[in-house]
Parts: sequence; C-alpha cells; structure tokens
Amino acid sequence: MNVKEIFETMEYGPAPEAAAPGLAWIQERTPLNLFINNQWVKPAGGQYIDSINPATGKRLAQVAAATSADVDAAVAAARAAFETWSKAPGHVRARYMYAIARHIQKHSRLLAVLESLDNGKPIRETRDIDIPLVARHFYYHAGWAQLMESELPGYQPVGVVGQIIPWNFPLLMLAWKIAPALAMGNTVVLKPARYTSLTALKFAEIVQEIGLPPGVVNILTGEASQVGEALVRHPGINKIAFTGSTDVGRSIRRATAGSGKKLSLELGGKSPFIVFDDADLDSVVEGVVDAIWFNQGQVCCAGSRLLVQENIADRLIEKLRERMEHLRIGDPLDKAVDIGAIVSPGQLKEIQRLVNTGVEEGAVMWQPSWACPTEGYFFPPTLFTNVSPATTIAQVEIFGPVLVSMTFRTPAEAVELANNTRYGLAASVWSENINLALDVAPKLKAGTVWINCTNLFDATSGFGGYRESGFGREGGKEGLYEYVRPKWETLEAPAKEFHIAEESASTNGSRPAVSADEDREFEGGEQLLDGYTPMFPAIDRTPKMFIGGKQTRPDSGYSRDVYDPQGQVIGQVGEGNRKDIRNAVEAAHAAGGWAAGTTHNRAQILYYIAENLSVREDEFARRIVQQTGRSYADAAAEVQAAISRLFSYAAWADKYEGAVHRPPLRGVALAMPEAIGVIGMACPEEHPLLGFVSLVAPAIAMGNTIVVIPSQVAPLSATDCYQVLETSDLPAGVVNIVTGDRDLLSQVLAEHDDVDAIWYFGPAEGCKRIELASAGNMKRTWVSYGHPRGWMDTAQGEGEEFLREATQVKNIWVPYGE
Ligand code: NDP
Repeated sequence: MNVKEIFETMEYGPAPEAAAPGLAWIQERTPLNLFINNQWVKPAGGQYIDSINPATGKRLAQVAAATSADVDAAVAAARAAFETWSKAPGHVRARYMYAIARHIQKHSRLLAVLESLDNGKPIRETRDIDIPLVARHFYYHAGWAQLMESELPGYQPVGVVGQIIPWNFPLLMLAWKIAPALAMGNTVVLKPARYTSLTALKFAEIVQEIGLPPGVVNILTGEASQVGEALVRHPGINKIAFTGSTDVGRSIRRATAGSGKKLSLELGGKSPFIVFDDADLDSVVEGVVDAIWFNQGQVCCAGSRLLVQENIADRLIEKLRERMEHLRIGDPLDKAVDIGAIVSPGQLKEIQRLVNTGVEEGAVMWQPSWACPTEGYFFPPTLFTNVSPATTIAQVEIFGPVLVSMTFRTPAEAVELANNTRYGLAASVWSENINLALDVAPKLKAGTVWINCTNLFDATSGFGGYRESGFGREGGKEGLYEYVRPKWETLEAPAKEFHIAEESASTNGSRPAVSADEDREFEGGEQLLDGYTPMFPAIDRTPKMFIGGKQTRPDSGYSRDVYDPQGQVIGQVGEGNRKDIRNAVEAAHAAGGWAAGTTHNRAQILYYIAENLSVREDEFARRIVQQTGRSYADAAAEVQAAISRLFSYAAWADKYEGAVHRPPLRGVALAMPEAIGVIGMACPEEHPLLGFVSLVAPAIAMGNTIVVIPSQVAPLSATDCYQVLETSDLPAGVVNIVTGDRDLLSQVLAEHDDVDAIWYFGPAEGCKRIELASAGNMKRTWVSYGHPRGWMDTAQGEGEEFLREATQVKNIWVPYGE
C-alpha cells in the first residue's frame, strides 16, 4: 500500500508493541515458583501448570501448582508477619505502599506487556487503564495507611486475609485486594486465576525489590480445587475477599458459614445500559463500545443489556452496526486493536454456546462482515435484537463481546426492565436531561451508576454489588471497612449461649430476686390503687403478631409461654410460623415507600417513638424486671438507654450522608448510602428492650423496612412496643414483629428470596445456619458468631457500624463539561 492509498482509505497499519521484554522475563524464570515469606519456593507437590497465550493458543509459561501444604506455609508466614505489620505505624506502611506504587510505574510497560500476553487483552487497555489504575490504588491506599489512626480510630486490622481473584483484570484485581488490606495493617495470601498468574508474580518481585517485610504478601499460583478451596477453609485465615462468578461466590459463602471469617464477594452482573431518546447518539455509540467490547466483554460490570427508548431504537442500532464494522480485532499487542483474544478455549466455547441459545430462542443475531483471526481464541462483537426480557441471553451473564438489546417506552418501564435481573452491579444512563438521569439513578438496583459514561473506575469510589452481584465494596473509604474490625471485638471462642426459656425454669433460680416492692405486678394480679384492691381479674393481654401495622393472630393458632427466671409463666405470645414470616415480608415490601420519604420525617418518627416510650418508662422497666429478674434500677437504666438510642438514630437519620468523590475526571462521583431493602432480624436474648431497639432503630432510620424476631426468652418488651409504634406515626409495614422460635423463624427469613439482608444475634451454631441459608440469593448477613456485645455500651451497641450494616453505597458518576 502506498502513501496515497493509505491516505485515501485511512486504514491503520499494524503498530505492535514489542513482546520481547515480556517473553525474556518469562524465559528467564519459567517454571515460575510460589512466593512465600519473600522467598521463591518450589510447590510441595512438585507440579507445574501451563499458562497459555490466548492470542496464539501456545504455551507461554509454566507456573507452580500449589497444594494445601503450600497454603499452610503461606498462612503461617502471613500470621507471623501480622504480629509486626499490624503494629507498624501507619506512616511506615504508607512508605512501603508508596514504594510499591512507584515501582509499578517503573515497571509499567513490562507489566502491560505481560498482562496482554497472558490474558489476551489489548495493550492499549493494559497500558492506559489497567496498570495506571494499579499504581493509583497503591498511592491512594498509602494515604489511608497514613491516616488510619486518625480517620478510623475505633478499628483494628482483621488479620490474615485470603484473596482470590479472577482472570479478567489480573493485576488490577490484585491491587484492589492487596492495597486496602495492607493499608489497614493486614497480611495476605493471594491466589491469582490459573490462566493469568504472570503479573501477580512480577508484583511479587516488586514486593521483594522494595523490601516489604517477609510474609506480608504471599502469592500462591495453582488451581481452584487445590489452592482456592484450601484458602477458603483454612482456620488461620480471618477474612476471604473474592472476585469471580456468582456460583463460586455462593459456594464460598457456604464454606465459610459459621467460621467467623469476614467475607466480601464481588460477583457477576448483567448490567443495563439505558438510552433515552434525548441522548447524544454518537456519544452513546462510543459508550456502547466501552461498555461491552472493552476487555472483550469479559467485565463483571459490562453494559451487556442495551435498553433503548423505542422511538430511537432503529437509528441507534443502525449506527451501532456501522461502528461495529470498524472495530478492529486481532493481536493484543497491536496498539491499533480494539478487541483482543478471549482468555481460554473454555470461555470461548461458553460464549458460543450462549450465542447459539440466543438464536434458538428467537433473537436476531448480527455480527460484522469481517472475519476473526483463526489462530488463538477470538470471538467477534455480536449484537442481538428482538430479544425478549425473559430469555437466557437477557438474563445470563455471557462474559463475552455480546450485546443484547431491548426497547422501552417510558422511564418507569426502563427502570423495571433494568431491574429485571438477579444481579445489581452497575448501570449506565444516557440522557441530555440531567433531571431525568438523576431521577432514574437512585431507582436502579446497582452499586454503581454511570451517567453519560460507562466503565469508569477509580480508587476513590467504592465498587461492589447489590443483590446476587455480591456484597462489600472495594475502593473509597467504604472499602476500608472490609479490612478492619472494631477494636473492642475479640476473636476468642464464642460465649456460652444465653439461657432460653425452657431451660430457665430449672437453671435460673439463682438470678437476683425482685424486691418486694419491685415485685408489685403491673398487670394480671392484684394491683394496689390507693389502698383499694380491685375485685376484677386482670384483663387478659396476649400479644399477637405485628404485621402491616396491624396486630394479627398467629397463623398457627398456637401460643407459647413466656417464663420468668424462676420458671413461672408470666405471659404468652403468638407462635409464629412460615406463613406469618411470609406475610410480614410482604408487608415490609409494601412499605417500600419508607426509603423514598425524607430523612427529616424518619428522624421525627424516631423521636416520637422515643417520646412515647418515655411516657411508659416505668411499665417497660418493670416488664424487664419481670422477664429477666434483674434489679429495677438496672432495668430502668436499660429503658433509658433504649430511649437515648432512639434519639441517637433520630439524630443520625438526616446526618449519615455519603460523599462526593473527586476521581481524576471532569466530574464527580456521588457516593450515596442507600437502604438495603427488607432486613430480617433476630434480636439478642439479653436486654429484651435495648437489644430490640438497637437493631430496629438504625435499620428504619436508614429507610429499610424490617421483619423482627424479638428475644425468644423475653419477647414481651418488644410486644409491648406495638402500641408505642402504633401511636408514633410509623407507617404500616415498616416494622413487622413475629414472635416465636428464633431459629425456626430466622431460617425462614434467611431462605426467603425477597429478604435482602439478615441480622442475627444469637449462638454460633445459629449464625452458621443463617450464613448457609442466605447463600440462596446471596443476601447480606450480619451475625454475632455467638460473641457477646455490650449493648449498654454506646461504643459497641450503636453508631456507624450499625448504619453501615443498614446501608449499601451506590456511586453515581456524573461527568461534566461539553
Ligand atoms: P471463577 O469464579 O471460577 O474463578 C474466579 C477465581 O476463583 C479464580 O481464581 C478461580 O481459580 C477461583 N476459584 C474457582 N472455584 C473456586 C472454589 N471453589 N474455591 C475457591 N476459589 C475458587 O470464574 P471462572 O474463571 O470459571 O469464570 C466463569 C464465569 O465467572 C465467567 O464466565 C463469568 O461469568 C464469571 N466471572 C466473573 C468475574 C467478575 O469479575 N465478576 C470474573 C471472572 C469470571 P482458578 O482460576 O484456578 O479456577
């Protein structure tokens, strides 16, 4: 081709980045070993696995296949290192992390080349996106290491963290995991994906280079069945951080249930890309390219569902097809290439299978006229139209360069379609009308919403999912809390279970007796009224359930006795069952408008509840005495604490705000804490009133609606609240109370697909059951593992920890400028 022809066709020529430095690096080291305690160690089993270059299908390197013996060694190294690293001043950790960031920049081109060779993604992406973001994460988190003492004063590191990462952003996912962990004083054992280990091993060299203390970072390559599972089950690990498929996330949830390991899961997605008819269509087309063809569509937050307003759909589809004709696919090291190779033959096959399913299900498939390279694993950009929302390709994460498009007519329909997925990772909204975009964004069930942009990431802004896309955030201040625990929390063996009613009859005779004066009954017995003893028997008061703002009879038609510590029956409550829980969840959903109300209104109602409780202070104190046998003074202090707690959350209701992040772009990211939805909760046995209020108040202050199971042994303080709630302007269905067997009822809540989160304060065994059952729809759990909590202590019994558990952060990215 001569210059004139090039000028006329404007065709790109090849512009390859040299592979030689990367290949030489591999050549010198292969087979690559494990990185334990800053040493290169041969795998205990002596086995190595091949790493393939997906653009050629040929072997690139051999990496060690670790086994459980290697996991033991790495965890031991990390545990030993934790002793000193966790106590190192923040400034010291900051210096190391700053050095890591600098060294990543020094080796940036080698890292970019290695990543493209190993993963198949275009060098333009590794060079301009992955690696710069990796450095940025270490710089940013060096800052948090420096500031930890002043900004997170009540927190300590979690311990040894097991981190498992996928192959789609190998080094970037490593940075997202290791940077916050180290900043907060933890040590780590990280397993890269088996297809893409090379940049993690280059990172290990950087760790050596900068002289990070041995054992702080350990890298174990190998297979999921050997390394991944061993890490998940290892008793020496205090937290697992995982990114990958929802199915594996679910199995990790089950495997860690009851172990007390902290867990964060960043899972799959099927993110909507919503285009309104006033959007700038040329920008939209480029947005779609970034949304679904970036990294060959192997992106958890890929905008894989195009939702277009009906009147512009034909025009947009036509423009898209034209753009697709001009996308360039090929050698990932070619700087002019838009789409590289799919990571593995298995992944390629799966994409092909799902595309075939789409065609069989009646959708119309379109691909550009040009052909893919025949060597290596390539798949062309693919567009489906005529897709019905319930079909496989509209619901299942394809994890490839495949876009499915659907149409809508109104904004409400767009929101409905967008939320018609079990996932909730990200969404983008395209409209020139900022009012419309900002109205739609909070209605989308997704952890990140991009307005007129897509696939933007930065260390300042937390990333993570709603619903089956997982829980926990990575990045931003919100992400730090995944790597810390409150300073008061110990990791000692769980406390003995608090007594339960049936046992109390025989075992609790030694509880402090109520004084003669305190023993004066306030209901059901003789009560002195100015020296006059009434002749009437007390009016029977058997509390029912509290569902949808009404007191309803238990579905079972049974009641259960409530005993005092001496084993005397002091009352009865309804025996709740599965049906009562279902009704309560339905009522809680129907009250979903609570979250949309003003925070001022929620604060007012919490103050009002406190006011109405304080009117009946004496009655509530006596009820506590009656149920627990504690002294009147002690019980009165609990009522006072409950009133104060309601005040605290009334105060927080309009003050627990988000942040405006300033990522490096012309724009802002609004980090908004949002209500989770419907929370099911099992109250602690101790402190029948304060335990109940301590869970209910933060949850409703943040806009959640709830289904509460009160203390099983002492439910009467909660049932006495019915009238308090009824007279406090609380909308029906915001708080629903079902009495009965704690474990039976909480199990139903944990298995319920319409419950979004569950809090359980009970014995360790129950916590395990809750964590296991909640894996069904990946609901967020907050459990006590049987550890006691000082409910009377404001540092333990209230505050931001509760508010964080009651919310999830949505980051809304809003770029500005013409
Ligand atoms: P996986 O979820 O299987 O793998 C992710 C990581 O977890 C890898 O390091 C893997 O190890 C490890 N792993 C797998 N099984 C276990 C286990 N039981 N216990 C502990 N660790 C485990 O993803 P795949 O690579 O198989 O991809 C399958 C699908 O998952 C994709 O098609 C896509 O839909 C989704 N996915 C989502 C990602 C996201 O970012 N949300 C990222 C990657 C995939 P190993 O590599 O050795 O198998």
